[in-house]
Amino acid sequence: MNEPVLVINCGSSSIKYALVPAAADQPRLTGLAERLGSGDARLKGVDSRGEAFTRDLGDAGHVEALAAILEGLEGRRPGAVGHRIVHGGEQFTRAALIDDEVVAAIEATSALAPLHNPANLQGVAATRALFAELPQVAVFDTAFHQSLPPRAYRYALPEALYREHGIRRYGFHGTSHAYVSARADALAGIEGGWLTAHLGNGCSTAAVWQGQSLDTSMGLTPLEGLVMGTRSGDVDPGLHAHLARELGWSLERINDVLNRGSGLLGLSGLSNDMRELEAAAEAGHAGAALAVEVFCSRIAKSLAALSCALPRLDGIVFTGGIGENSPRVREQVVALLPHFGLALDPEANRETIRGHEGRIDAPAPNRPALWVIPTDEEGRIADETRQLLGETAR
Ligand code: ADP
Repeated sequence: MNEPVLVINCGSSSIKYALVPAAADQPRLTGLAERLGSGDARLKGVDSRGEAFTRDLGDAGHVEALAAILEGLEGRRPGAVGHRIVHGGEQFTRAALIDDEVVAAIEATSALAPLHNPANLQGVAATRALFAELPQVAVFDTAFHQSLPPRAYRYALPEALYREHGIRRYGFHGTSHAYVSARADALAGIEGGWLTAHLGNGCSTAAVWQGQSLDTSMGLTPLEGLVMGTRSGDVDPGLHAHLARELGWSLERINDVLNRGSGLLGLSGLSNDMRELEAAAEAGHAGAALAVEVFCSRIAKSLAALSCALPRLDGIVFTGGIGENSPRVREQVVALLPHFGLALDPEANRETIRGHEGRIDAPAPNRPALWVIPTDEEGRIADETRQLLGETAR
């Protein structure tokens, strides 16, 4: 398929899009329709000359916003649509061509991702209504981690909770971990063992061996694992009962605090934005310094724990807004892993920012490498969409 793929990431009040051409050297058109359904919707994007534009969309909902996105594609018609879907449960181990059955299966998984899957499906319904003739593909955040062995995905809970209710670890950010680990394989010229750290607003780690995810830090929901922008990551499982008993907090309140009021924001009392925290820590703000310290310490502990899943450690890959742009976080994480025998190159670390890909260590035989690899979830979704359509066309 030579036409571009339209990649859609649909939230409850927003649609992020990218028109990804078949050739990597052609420009992408990207943008975001936001505040949908609020009466004050707008479309922000970047055109093929790299110039930013904004359009008011008034009381547009998802369908109207998609129509506006299509108009803004400068006459380029996509050959297919690739949808980012957060949760594919155990059913989807790879991308799937969307039909009524697949939509029903995604709906059936909504209990596991109540904020995300229904919103993702709104995007699917709107695109199917608008582009009935185009093939649509669902690419799942969880699919890459379906290769986890039971010892990594089972919780030590009564078996019936798993068998009857699907309570297990699923993992997320799969598209990103898949992309950066494949890229690390290509750059290193091996099918290696990688620890990947996706550090953005949401944060997760994965252990990838020869292209297969063997363990990951997120679990049943994207709340497990690392400290994130506003999410707590791991806490004592007894915390919920304690807060309910001692403070009389409702489940909704506890859930809200752990998802929206914790993490870097909760620790620092200042911000969920790493740039702001680094500047404040530099200026002597104790809460900001502590937040960065806990953040890095949790990453290092997670990487050390996940290394148990790998037969051999060939390197650590940093990605996501923080992983790609914060030499300070990378340096602190590496400093907390002295037993891995890593050798950070301070100058390469300082200089590898703003979308640059490269090694930030001094290469030596038998020493795990340190890579910064900007993630490309849209590119990966487009690739998986093309690959699936190529296979079904045969
Ligand atoms: P999302 O998970 O929403 O896609 P991103 O991957 O864009 O988010 O990551 C957002 C995070 O990256 C924010 O905490 C932001 O502060 C951080 N970040 C972006 N640029 C820098 C920088 N130059 N230094 C430190 N952190 C940065």
